Amino acid sequence: MAEQGVAQVWRRIRSMYNIQGNKCETCGTHYFPPRPVCPECRRKGKLVNFHFKGLGTIYSFAIVRQAPEDFKRQMPYVVAQVELDEGTRLTAQIVNVDAEDVKIGMRVRACFRKIKEFGQGGIIVYGYKFEPTMKVTGHD
Ligand code: ZN
Repeated sequence: MAEQGVAQVWRRIRSMYNIQGNKCETCGTHYFPPRPVCPECRRKGKLVNFHFKGLGTIYSFAIVRQAPEDFKRQMPYVVAQVELDEGTRLTAQIVNVDAEDVKIGMRVRACFRKIKEFGQGGIIVYGYKFEPTMKVTGHD
């Protein structure tokens, strides 16, 4: 029953929730997280909201075998720097793949997952994680 409730919440959040950053219209650079000022253009920069498509490539990664208590159930897990297609990088957990199969250059897409739950039936924190776009690893 609880599982079903969570699935419903996921569906609802998925449609609302995007990787939102911003973009400088002056120089075309994308930022995540959003910046208040474009470091390139300063005052001349014109920043507008931008929703990333959530597709990217693994730039570098680390397999985490020692984790804080809250993450122990998921060990080992992979944390990667993902280079989004728009050209900016962010750090995220890689899921739905064995840690040993993660490779630099692997295509990934954002997916939304429960990151942390406080207490029984308490507040659930959601966030983006990334998963491979294909089951097969390697080239695409
Ligand atoms: Zn700029």
